[in-house]
Amino acid sequence: MKLKIVKDSNPIMRKKSEEVPLPLSNEDRELIDSMYDYLVKSQDDEYAKKHNIRAGVGLAAIQVGQLKRMFVIYYQKGDTYVKYKLVNPKIIETSIRKAALEGGEGCLSVDKDHKGLVHRYYKIKLKAYDVFQEQEIIITATGYDAIVLQHEYDHLNGILFYDHIVYDAPNTVLANEEII
Ligand code: ZN
Repeated sequence: MKLKIVKDSNPIMRKKSEEVPLPLSNEDRELIDSMYDYLVKSQDDEYAKKHNIRAGVGLAAIQVGQLKRMFVIYYQKGDTYVKYKLVNPKIIETSIRKAALEGGEGCLSVDKDHKGLVHRYYKIKLKAYDVFQEQEIIITATGYDAIVLQHEYDHLNGILFYDHIVYDAPNTVLANEEII
């Protein structure tokens, strides 16, 4: 399946995605598999250069024009890889503690640089159906891992990372916030 990334100038990016019926249809399975393949390839320098695409660590279905509550994640962490193909994710717990990436966030759908701290929860618990494991799982994530999950989860509700930047005080650290 050939995928094209939708940019934030497209109003679809502000729409709320819909629950995906389980068990997954062949069509939805093909979509999430293609999204994952795209993400993995985006981190291959040679491939990315040749196809003029940017590297990402997460991708939501809405970013390829499908209003479906699913997203994929792929990045290296130490000797292992964090990888998920999540369907109908739900954040079921959040911490009082906050976290933000020092350099701000980026997004495959956002070409423009938006500087500033993107305030997020330091720790979350997320429940979802994972296509890798073919079952419902609960992920407990902190720090960077929690930030990536929240970024993708936001896409399902039409929210973009720069919505969380306080433009009057983009670099002001919150009292209970860890900068990563
Ligand atoms: Zn994004």
